[in-house]
Amino acid sequence: MLSNDQIDRYRSQINLKQINIQGQIKLKNTKVLVIGAGGIGSPTTLFLSRCGILKFGIIDDDKISKSNLHRQILFDLKDIGKKKVYVSKKKILQIDKKIQVKIFKLRVNKFNLKSIVKDYDYIVDGTDNFKAKLNINDICLKFKKKLFIGSVSQFDGHIFFFDFSKKGPCLRCFMPSAPKISPRCQDEGILGTVTGTVGTIIANELIKNVVGIKSHLTNEVLIINFENLLFRKVKITRSTKCNKHE
Ligand SMILES: [Zn+2]
Repeated sequence: MLSNDQIDRYRSQINLKQINIQGQIKLKNTKVLVIGAGGIGSPTTLFLSRCGILKFGIIDDDKISKSNLHRQILFDLKDIGKKKVYVSKKKILQIDKKIQVKIFKLRVNKFNLKSIVKDYDYIVDGTDNFKAKLNINDICLKFKKKLFIGSVSQFDGHIFFFDFSKKGPCLRCFMPSAPKISPRCQDEGILGTVTGTVGTIIANELIKNVVGIKSHLTNEVLIINFENLLFRKVKITRSTKCNKHE
C-alpha cells in the first residue's frame, strides 16, 4: 500500500504505465546495498533514494577529501574529512526521512560481506578495484543476489548486470582474476560526468528490474567510450573454467 503522500510524491513516475501503483509498491519494498560511496555510488544512491526505495545499506571505509568533490556528488565542501558513510546517510535522510539506512564503515573482503548481503535484494558494486569486485561477485553468486557492477577507466565506463537467482555467467567467467596492475581511477584521471553517467545508468536499470521492465543488460556488459561517445554491449557466457558455480 502507498500513502497519499507517497502517491503525491511519486506521481510523475507512477504516471508511467510501466511503473504505475504496482511498480511503486515494488520499489517501496526493495532493499538495496551500495558498496562504495564514491563517484559511481553517489549518483546511484541519490537517484534510488528519490524513487521510493526505502531501505538502503551503504558500505565504505573512506573519508571525504577535497579531490573527491568533482565526482562524488553526495558530498560538499563542508563534508571534507568526515566519513563517507555518515554523510551519505545524512544526505539520504534529507531526501526522505522515512528511508532506513544501515551503514557499514568497513572495506569489503570475502569474509565480512556474507552476513551483510543476505538482507538485500540488489547489490550495487561501485568499488574502485578488481579484487573487491571479484569478492563481491563471489558472495552475490553464492547468495543468489542481483548484482550491478560499475567500473570506470579514464573515458571508458563498464556496467554489468547479473541476476544470480537464475543460472548464468558471473564476473569471473568474463575476468577470472584481478589484473596485476590496475591503477585507481583517480590516479589515471577521471571526469565526474563519466562516473556520474555510469552510476545513473545503474540506478535506471535497477528501477526497471524492480518494476518488471525487460532488462537489456542481463549477463551482458555495456561498454561506453565517453570520449568518442561509442556504446556497445558484449554478451557474457558461462565459462567452464569458472569454478564458482555450484
Ligand atoms: Zn563464473
